[in-house]
Amino acid sequence: MALIEVNKRLYELQFDTTTGEYVDTSPFIKGKRSNEEYYCSCKCDSSFNTFSGWKYHTSLKVHQNYKKNYMFLNKPLLDARAMIIDMKRESNKQTNKYKGLKLRYRELEKNIESQNELKIMIKKLEEENKCLQQTISSINDYTVTDSDEEFEDCSMNY
Ligand SMILES: [Zn+2]
Repeated sequence: MALIEVNKRLYELQFDTTTGEYVDTSPFIKGKRSNEEYYCSCKCDSSFNTFSGWKYHTSLKVHQNYKKNYMFLNKPLLDARAMIIDMKRESNKQTNKYKGLKLRYRELEKNIESQNELKIMIKKLEEENKCLQQTISSINDYTVTDSDEEFEDCSMNY
């Protein structure tokens, strides 16, 4: 007979969100063999590795009593799980907040970049404006004589 490695697992009741109670749910498929052996905390020597074994175990009085008091007997475990869920939720919230701030930071960085570009453009325009002002004032200062009829507007060069 070949040796089959058996995985020992702890059997746990499942929480039914509709009723708000802990219920028995088979870890096995009916009529199918499994190499997983489950142990239930209701008693020390409990083990089952088939659907019918599980069915039989859940019908035992000791298991029924355990099921009735499941929340009380497993309070530390259930509290710890609830705490982990809360912490994960909080961690996700913080991660999302961080991602949001990172996006905002990138947006602000882009704004700063475009503001710097605008500053450069403004400086350039100011220089051009200064040059134009100088041209205009030199035109205004120009004394028109008869020989200046073919005067060329140098501002057209801009
Ligand atoms: Zn049990």
